[in-house]
Amino acid sequence: MEETAAHLCSEVENRLPSLVCAVMAIDATGALYSLAAPSLPADFARSIVGVVFGESTALAGAAFPGDAPIVVSDITRDVRWAGLTAEAAALGFQACWLSPIMGEHGEFIGVLVLHSREPRSPSESETALIAVCRELCEIALRRHEQASDRERRTNIDGLTRLPNRAAFDAKLARLRCDTPGSWALFVLDLDNLKSVNDSLGHKAGDDLIRAAGERLAGAMAPDVAYRLGGDEFAVIIERPEVLRDLDAAAMEIFTALEAAVECDGHSIIPAASIGGAVFTAGDECAATVYQNADFALYHAKETGRGGFVRYWPGLGSRINHRRRAIREVGSALADHRIEAFYQPVVRLDSRKIIGVEALCRLRTPSGELVAARSFRDATTDAKVATELTERMLSLVAKDMHDWHEAGLPFMQVGVNVSAADFYMGDVVRKLENSFGLMEVPLTCLVLEVNEDTSIGRGDKVVARQIERLRHHGVQVALDDFGTGYASLTHLLRVPVDEVKIDRSFIARLWPDDPSMAIVQGLIDIARQLNIRVVAEGVETEVQASQLWSMGCAYGQGFDFSRPVDRNAMCDLLRRHGMGVSGSIAMASPGMMGTASPKLPLKRRAGMR
Ligand code: C2E
Ligand code: CA
Ligand code: CA
Repeated sequence: MEETAAHLCSEVENRLPSLVCAVMAIDATGALYSLAAPSLPADFARSIVGVVFGESTALAGAAFPGDAPIVVSDITRDVRWAGLTAEAAALGFQACWLSPIMGEHGEFIGVLVLHSREPRSPSESETALIAVCRELCEIALRRHEQASDRERRTNIDGLTRLPNRAAFDAKLARLRCDTPGSWALFVLDLDNLKSVNDSLGHKAGDDLIRAAGERLAGAMAPDVAYRLGGDEFAVIIERPEVLRDLDAAAMEIFTALEAAVECDGHSIIPAASIGGAVFTAGDECAATVYQNADFALYHAKETGRGGFVRYWPGLGSRINHRRRAIREVGSALADHRIEAFYQPVVRLDSRKIIGVEALCRLRTPSGELVAARSFRDATTDAKVATELTERMLSLVAKDMHDWHEAGLPFMQVGVNVSAADFYMGDVVRKLENSFGLMEVPLTCLVLEVNEDTSIGRGDKVVARQIERLRHHGVQVALDDFGTGYASLTHLLRVPVDEVKIDRSFIARLWPDDPSMAIVQGLIDIARQLNIRVVAEGVETEVQASQLWSMGCAYGQGFDFSRPVDRNAMCDLLRRHGMGVSGSIAMASPGMMGTASPKLPLKRRAGMR
């Protein structure tokens, strides 16, 4: 464009040697600049702009009235030239003729400027030539405008005004892959776009995308955010201070997204998952980093955790493992190869069984028994998880019924549930279909939720459902307590009846270990909130008596019994069940054949 304009100016000057020609155009910000002025000092060309259009050079609507040519036949007599007359005189200019160049829609896009060394108006033939030149400029500038418009369109997302996937790909290709750690990538996915689209319509969905894009870009600027399409965004992070703490950057995004957005008349809070990956030594190219970030995002979404997941090298195989687990549990459900095992929960002083926890087992086609630990990942799939809960509930209800028929009193039974149970289908209905059908009172049931289930999502769904369930007499236990990041906050938000202290703490109950203080703190807080405490993974007598002396009344673990099948559990209940006539204290494996277990003497007041 510059070349064409300069060529045109030279042509004009060749034909009309008394004139000096310049072409001005408007830049992306709307300011006028000198596109070509081959015979003018650069500074002068810039000054004319200031003189004629005001110092700001930003093109106000009124700056150039209409498209009629302006002829200043003697610049010394025109006030607008007052500041520039000396310079103009030095160059030998006495008159100035301006021809506006208009865009397709009548908007001002440039101006053709001719300086005359004589104080006069253009002659008839000059006017004709200038008109032709102006027209040529117009054609050239319009085409130029269209081309930059096209470029803008191919690289900018129309909805969010953020650079799009093409721009992202181009930027990725330009990123230097020589210094590990020099850049990182976030890919972000809106969790609730689909439901907003489905329930409130696409206009609401568009509003959500637009607001999320704007907030994301704002939170990460000057690092650039891209809209890759649909509900997917990316950020290329190059600032060292951000690279140093990606978790903080992700938090910043979540915070920015948190406020409600007006979506076509509805108030929606955008929710997102983020996957992150840093360019590291092993990565061959930028595309690998993108793939890694995508893996991490997939993990964040599919495991139902939401939030931010950072790529680590084992993530790919973890994802494969999860897929396999989902497949296997799915077919085990279809073939009725899911079984309920039970592990007793005992009172640490009397060693009587006060309840059981149902643990799911998978029977392989070849007859082997697989523990839940190996396929726990499968419960992050919503469909498998809810089917599994339904199956376990009916197996458990049947066993409870049978034990009762066999003369045993009803005990508490813990059943593990997943996040999906609260989001899909009606939990209360499921309970009626299982416990109700078998006439087992719902007050026996303890639903074990862990923190992933209950606070990972931050919304109120789980809390509401839990409240509803407690209304029906169901008890709720907070499982794996202490492993989540917000255990204590959680206790304030969602009412629970029981906390199960994770076995990672119990395994480290040594005098100088911080676990000791943590467990003691948990026991004390729970007691003050009137919540029952169960220690998980009690493997030794030392742990059992230590816990008792710390004020923990109940325990579960290999020290008392491994998980066993329904028949073995029935025997255990008959022999050691609380409230079963003639039952005796449970001997731990290490105490078999010895006298009854020695109980710690110290006991805290007010144990539940
Ligand atoms: P969890 O709820 O914390 O269950 C306790 C796990 O610890 C069980 O593993 C149990 O066998 C094991 N365990 C019990 N005592 C000890 C001990 O003294 N030492 C050690 N090292 N381990 C002990 P399991 O059965 O493999 O279950 C693993 C996890 O899978 C469970 O952790 C639970 O989160 C989940 N799960 C089990 N059954 C179900 C189910 O029916 N539905 C769902 N959604 N999840 C389940
Ligand atoms: Ca549990
Ligand atoms: Ca647990």
